[in-house]
Amino acid sequence: MKKLVILGGGYGGMRILQKVLPELPEDVSVILVDRVPYHCLKTEYYALAAGTISDQHVRVSFPEHPKLSIIYDEVKSVDLEKNLVLLGDEKELSYHDLIIGLGCEDKYHNVPGADQYTCSIQSIENSRSTYQKLNNLSPGSTVAIVGAGLSGVELASELSESRKDLNIKLFDRGNHILSSFPERLSTYVENWFDTHQVEIINNANITRVEENTIYNHDEPVAADVIVWTAGIQASKIVRDLPGEHDGMGRAIISERHHLPQYENVFILGDCASLPHAPSAQLAEGQAEQIVQVLVCRWKGQEPPVSFPQIKLKGILGSLGKKHGFGLLADRAITGRVARLLKSGILWMYKYHNG
Ligand SMILES: Cc1cc2nc3c(=O)[nH]c(=O)nc-3n(C[C@H](O)[C@H](O)[C@H](O)COP(=O)(O)OP(=O)(O)OC[C@H]3O[C@@H](n4cnc5c(N)ncnc54)[C@H](O)[C@@H]3O)c2cc1C
Repeated sequence: MKKLVILGGGYGGMRILQKVLPELPEDVSVILVDRVPYHCLKTEYYALAAGTISDQHVRVSFPEHPKLSIIYDEVKSVDLEKNLVLLGDEKELSYHDLIIGLGCEDKYHNVPGADQYTCSIQSIENSRSTYQKLNNLSPGSTVAIVGAGLSGVELASELSESRKDLNIKLFDRGNHILSSFPERLSTYVENWFDTHQVEIINNANITRVEENTIYNHDEPVAADVIVWTAGIQASKIVRDLPGEHDGMGRAIISERHHLPQYENVFILGDCASLPHAPSAQLAEGQAEQIVQVLVCRWKGQEPPVSFPQIKLKGILGSLGKKHGFGLLADRAITGRVARLLKSGILWMYKYHNG
């Protein structure tokens, strides 16, 4: 029996399972490895950390299938030469084909103290501990959020609705927050923050972090909790693989999504160097192409040499529970419609995967 091993049951890993299980030949079985016993909806971690949804709300069960087995363990490393995955307690798992979709981690840009003194929303474990810190704060405490991209903005707005008693400061490098969005959207979101008493500090440069102190251009600012949302990089397992990586530590891959030297090792989602910003949609689109390659090979056919660009439908962000913003087919949308659409997409996702 040949083994297809999937590392990571995130958005990419789930889409692989959904597409590959109905196509499995007799002589192939699938093993999924994840440290968490369910698929976690990472796009909702901001709300988990802010305390506005329960832990159960971000969980989706993994599928059940006679040819799927699931190992709940920590992936420690991959030995590409020996076709082996190293798990906790030095256990080894061999593979014929391997898909690595272990997601990403915070990137601290060498800011001293940032890894030690800031909270994170990049993993379920970290989001839970951030939730505890934020929600145990006494009234009038200050929360500093570093980075006003999508996740920083969603966290700041959700927290401002859930804890009106806190002083929230949102530090961002640019002249405008949400620098990758059109200015009209940034201005809409800035106005929302204005009316919800979230302080935006533009043109920030965080030079150091200490316990309860953040240094902006070397000037100390006191904060009871500091949350880092200022950059990501691929999982360390992928950063440590031999071969080329991009500036985010994502592995450079071939047109067929495998490592250039290893046709049986595919890199998926936030771990893969793709010509778009990492997103759940991108991970899912890429997963579908990887399954096409595998299925062709299992049938003894030549997989396509290249694939069309993965089509992304757009991006939606929330501003608390009632407002939102987004870009759909390059059209900017704001307000309640954007928020309703975002909730609808989440509902559909859970409906189709639950
Ligand atoms: C607050 C926030 C909001 C976001 N909003 C959006 C959005 O609106 N739209 C959008 O498209 N994207 C959004 N994203 C980005 C999106 O969540 C990621 O791009 C997406 O999760 C990537 O999917 P993935 O399959 O590559 O990895 P993930 O979904 O992160 O899955 C990785 C899996 O690997 C497991 N894992 C990791 N390391 C190990 C290990 N060493 N051992 C065992 N298991 C391990 C994890 O438990 C996890 O199950 C958001 C992200 C955040 C943080």
